[in-house]
Amino acid sequence: MKIVIVGGGISGLTTYLFLRKLLPPSPANNTPLEILIYESHKAPKNADRPEISLSAPSPFAQGVGGVLGISPNGVRVLQQLDGTLFRNVVNHGYPVRQFHFRNSHGMALANFPTTNFTDPPLHTVLISRQALWDALRDQVPDSAILCKKVSGVTLGTSTQRPRIQFADGSSDEVADLVIGADGVHSVVKQAVTSNGNTDAYPAIYEGLVGVGGFMPASYLPKNEPLGTTTMTFGADGFFGYGACSPTPEASHDAVSTCNPGNQAVWWSTYALEHLPSKGEIDKDDIIRQLQSRHSSWKDPVIQTVIQKVSIDSIYPTWTTPNLPTWEKDGVVLVGDAAHALQTSSGQGVSQALEDAEMLGMIIARNLKSGFASEKKALQAAAGSYCELRVPRVRKISDHAKKLGDMKRKKNLVVEWMMYLFMWLGGKLPRDSNTEWLLRYNPEEEIAKFFLKKGKQADP
Ligand SMILES: Cc1cc2nc3c(=O)[nH]c(=O)nc-3n(C[C@H](O)[C@H](O)[C@H](O)COP(=O)(O)OP(=O)(O)OC[C@H]3O[C@@H](n4cnc5c(N)ncnc54)[C@H](O)[C@@H]3O)c2cc1C
Repeated sequence: MKIVIVGGGISGLTTYLFLRKLLPPSPANNTPLEILIYESHKAPKNADRPEISLSAPSPFAQGVGGVLGISPNGVRVLQQLDGTLFRNVVNHGYPVRQFHFRNSHGMALANFPTTNFTDPPLHTVLISRQALWDALRDQVPDSAILCKKVSGVTLGTSTQRPRIQFADGSSDEVADLVIGADGVHSVVKQAVTSNGNTDAYPAIYEGLVGVGGFMPASYLPKNEPLGTTTMTFGADGFFGYGACSPTPEASHDAVSTCNPGNQAVWWSTYALEHLPSKGEIDKDDIIRQLQSRHSSWKDPVIQTVIQKVSIDSIYPTWTTPNLPTWEKDGVVLVGDAAHALQTSSGQGVSQALEDAEMLGMIIARNLKSGFASEKKALQAAAGSYCELRVPRVRKISDHAKKLGDMKRKKNLVVEWMMYLFMWLGGKLPRDSNTEWLLRYNPEEEIAKFFLKKGKQADP
């Protein structure tokens, strides 16, 4: 049996690792299980990239991308996947136990816990995308990742397996299952939703741009409780900062927090109607805009940052519109290819991790369930995966759309209504805010799902 994953980002690598962990090495007829990842960019392990060293003085700024927050529901997925991987991730990130919300006028509004409900609770982990990617990549053998850009996918038919085409014109590949993990501008999505024709569901630019960078942790407030990330909202934007590395000697476990290491991160989101092309981006101009937008904000950390630091990442917010389906005829989507979320959800990476875990679990279940053929088992697994995942991700996306508007320009009335809303949110019992999101157990969800479906779900 052959499974091809298109895209070796966070969701592609995690899906690979779950499939390798959960699937038998020879699912049927003694044909060995082959899983290949096609990634458009070179993807060497950290140890094979001498120019990027995680022990260098400013390691995080040397990689690709900015910082991601892995929510406890995403951290749990890594914990389930592999103990070494889990420890590697949490020891390269910073465990956050609360988001401290403020307004641009210097008023503290609310503290929102960012731990989950397990005993002991897991924290959110703030980590550079590069460090998370490196930790995952470390577990994947070099032979499983091929550097090739996929140009298109053709769905399977009753007699043919799905086909993968390549931008370099090399011969097509066939597979029993194709998993599209190729991010927000997915080409695999086109096969699933538009039969490979022009993309009927192109990614949407949300009119918001995130910029950010790394800074010394010494800029952080001295009296701040450990494990705090500060988020400040104003009439025309947003500014966040917090530690993103632990003290080198700390070997924490995401169930307790620790002193910050050297590295902290800041980021800011603002509205920009037209997305500038790469060539038009002028970092000095962005700094000038940051300075003018935030110069009156009453927080000494923000004032230090806008005067002293440089920009390390620029990340426009692209989202995926609601797709009619995430799977069709032997092809299935995970992560941003299926559902790039607003950054305000704080769930982009965590939902990608949940997808990978659930898809792996359902495929493994179906392969053991005596379907007439592997093809039927895989197709049924892709269908069940969508039925289980789509409602949860839609709910998160709807919730995030409302929050995303808080980062746009607003008039005085709307601005103060927003502060009131946040202040009140901080007074609500914690469970009502986050329980539905964080108390998520895929094993239980799968058991409930198949129980409800009764015999229909089995071969
Ligand atoms: C370079 C980069 C930097 C990022 N920086 C940030 C950030 O600063 N902040 C943030 O919130 N999110 C960032 N993200 C997005 C974040 O990683 C995702 O939202 C989240 O982790 C879900 O991951 P994903 O694997 O589904 O998608 P992604 O992480 O986007 O991974 C998709 C992968 O597919 C590969 N790919 C795409 N098209 C093809 C193709 N045709 N053929 C083969 N391979 C293909 C890409 O090279 C990439 O490795 C970044 C993503 C990337 C790729």
